[in-house]
Amino acid sequence: MIFDPLYLIVLAVGGLLSFWASARTKGAFAKYSKFTTRAGFTGAEVAQHILNDNGISDVTIEPVPGKLTDHYDPRTRTLRLSEPVFGGRSMSAFGVAAHEVGHAIQHATGYSMLKFRSAWVPVANFGSGLSIFIIIAAAMMGGVSTAMGANLAWLGIALFSTTTIFTLVTLPVEFDASRRALLALEAGRYVDGEELDGARKVLNAAAMTYVAAFVTSLLTLLYWAMRLGLLGGRDD
Ligand SMILES: [Zn+2]
Repeated sequence: MIFDPLYLIVLAVGGLLSFWASARTKGAFAKYSKFTTRAGFTGAEVAQHILNDNGISDVTIEPVPGKLTDHYDPRTRTLRLSEPVFGGRSMSAFGVAAHEVGHAIQHATGYSMLKFRSAWVPVANFGSGLSIFIIIAAAMMGGVSTAMGANLAWLGIALFSTTTIFTLVTLPVEFDASRRALLALEAGRYVDGEELDGARKVLNAAAMTYVAAFVTSLLTLLYWAMRLGLLGGRDD
């Protein structure tokens, strides 16, 4: 089962997609880090301005070590910006800072997809932890060739699909945060047209990492569904 060539292909495709998306994000970030914005703000300052523009006063901005470690923590309402973004003045810094504020705005306005995604985290954690054991048990029972195997196969696939659903609902949340970021940068006149374009390119590249995660999860799900006999006609 481990040496199934199809499984190796699924792993390779997923790995390559993730590598490509991550390399593209790092490349775009590095490229547009070289272009300093004319507004004279740092990423942290532009983030604070956009929070103010949206009437959000209960979010704290703090620096976090590392590269591309930027995130918004809804539990503590903290916007953590990596050092090159926090103190940076580039198109990359502005794009990423504004994107994280986009998540804070989603949180403040009760954006439904963000709510669903947050509520789904424990479900996905539970599902992903358990699914592999159930899938292996189902495979050992011959998948759908036995009644017990078939039941376990469906259960394993249902559990695994919780992570695929998580990577799927992440997509609208991330695309929406970037959309809000670019609108806010433009509306507040924090960037000119050229700077906005640079910020957009960084955010578009970053969005591909989430698409890659979804595609990888979906391919793995389909592989297991097929392997267990729930999809297609593999009868080995
Ligand atoms: Zn995001």
